[in-house]
Amino acid sequence: MEERAHCIRCLLRDINAEEEYKKLEEYLASYPEESRVSEDVYEERLALCKACECLNQGICTKCGCFVEARALKKIGYCPHERPRW
Ligand code: SF4
Repeated sequence: MEERAHCIRCLLRDINAEEEYKKLEEYLASYPEESRVSEDVYEERLALCKACECLNQGICTKCGCFVEARALKKIGYCPHERPRW
């Protein structure tokens, strides 16, 4: 059976959350070291996301990104109109 990529418009019932989280973990692990923020900055960013009203099930509702991926990148930024990080 052909594997299909999921997007935030998929129905929750169509998503295998465990499989999606595994894919995210693999993506995070493979992201180049030189393009990552430090562990401290990463955790600070995630703490701000966790306190943000725009976070929904690991996804930023302002941009549709998984915040764990967005926060990891040096080029990442908070898309809120009043950026949190
Ligand atoms: S708006 Fe900013 S702080 Fe809020 S969830 Fe999105 S990236 Fe995180």
